[in-house]
Amino acid sequence: MSAGQREAFLSAFVVAGHQLWTVGGALRDELLGVPGRDEDFATDATPDQTEAIARGLRRSVQTVGRHFGTIGVRLDGRWSEVTTFRGDAYSDGTRWPDVTFGASIEEDLARRDFTMNALARNTATGRVLDLFGGAADIEARLIRAVGEPVRRFTEDPLRILRGIRFASEVGFAIEPETREAMRQTAGLLATLSQERVTAELDRLLQGRAVAAGLGALAETGALAVVLPELAPIVGCEQNRFHRFDVWGHTVATVAAIGPSGPEGRVRRWAAFLHDLGKPYVRHTKTNGEWGFFRHETVGADLAEGLLGRLKVAKAETRAVALLVRRHMDRPNLDRRSVRRFMARSEGMWPDLVALKRADNASHTYDDAAYHDALAALAARIAVEDAAALRGESPLSGDDLVRIFGRAPGPWIKPVKARLSALVLDGDLAPGDKEAAERVARRMLR
Ligand code: ATP
Ligand code: MG
Repeated sequence: MSAGQREAFLSAFVVAGHQLWTVGGALRDELLGVPGRDEDFATDATPDQTEAIARGLRRSVQTVGRHFGTIGVRLDGRWSEVTTFRGDAYSDGTRWPDVTFGASIEEDLARRDFTMNALARNTATGRVLDLFGGAADIEARLIRAVGEPVRRFTEDPLRILRGIRFASEVGFAIEPETREAMRQTAGLLATLSQERVTAELDRLLQGRAVAAGLGALAETGALAVVLPELAPIVGCEQNRFHRFDVWGHTVATVAAIGPSGPEGRVRRWAAFLHDLGKPYVRHTKTNGEWGFFRHETVGADLAEGLLGRLKVAKAETRAVALLVRRHMDRPNLDRRSVRRFMARSEGMWPDLVALKRADNASHTYDDAAYHDALAALAARIAVEDAAALRGESPLSGDDLVRIFGRAPGPWIKPVKARLSALVLDGDLAPGDKEAAERVARRMLR
């Protein structure tokens, strides 16, 4: 593949008498010094004209966004979105992108959400168009609405969450007037589709400045609207083991998990929800302190319900709920206990250890040495005791039916469960059918 596809594409727009501007995230990130993302363009060409130019150059084309004015074009191994200038066509409450085409790049930029996202650079002349002080705001690391913020958030409340999500991703502060407008309009978040809200929350949680993002989420009142289930943890006071209330502790726990790849995603959700159950079980212990007995069990059930409402995928929901349910597990540092711990984590023990470490980050006691030892022993067990860890009963249901000459029935399950537990505990060698049969005979006598 030649590396000149982008250049050829840009030239074709000049030849056809069209403007083509680099816009949005790519330009913002370039000014920020963050490298390498797909470049998006704005143009006065219609989607049909853009498609014709791309096909003329034998480029792959993606047309699912045509209705919104967007054509995807494959250039030098990456997808770029080319979007026809948009115009102002809001009646209140209509949501972006309700499309009318605009006359100019100026009109198009005025419809964008934040000043840092409203820059454009002409691909033919290199001229940068900065109508709203976006470059200065990027320099000052500020998120500021384009135009009148209350009006812009009322037009499209998703912008409130986008702004908070950007605060988490790029680590900028939200400019005070913009923040105040978020506070005033946060109630409108209830009108958005769950899918759009969840997508923003998911990205917010993965940000590298996630503590600031979550701070803004709570402080603007957006949290109470999009995640009312979490509202009770804000201000929920704890005991001498904790430096913060449950919300402050939750934010610190999420931030203590490194945003690393796909497993980072589930870990951060688990950290976010790990103490969800606390306000519901809080009681006074005999020593007069707050206790949270069984909050992990109650919390896991609540987390499952919450993620279901958020329409998070089933597999992820199950994984997060499991981590929440098990986050208080603290095995003794012997093989038997750690194997049980690992078996209960259903293969997710590295995630569980990561969550426990992060949880400990804002406790008043330091458990790092314990977690180091736990991780080391678990890693050793995973290699050396792999067969035992699978905890497979040496005898299958069919084996048992044959050996005892009984019809299949509910008697099989407890026998297999017992055999599995013995294998897991190292009291029965994996695959030892003879010893397993002796155990089974004793049980069924
Ligand atoms: P990222 O891709 O990292 O989310 P981005 O800035 O590219 O960042 P997109 O959602 O891809 O964000 O949107 C591209 C551009 O479209 C934004 O930079 C912004 O200018 C504009 N935009 C997107 N959504 C909205 C919205 N709801 N209201 C106004 N402008 C928007
Ligand atoms: Mg983008």
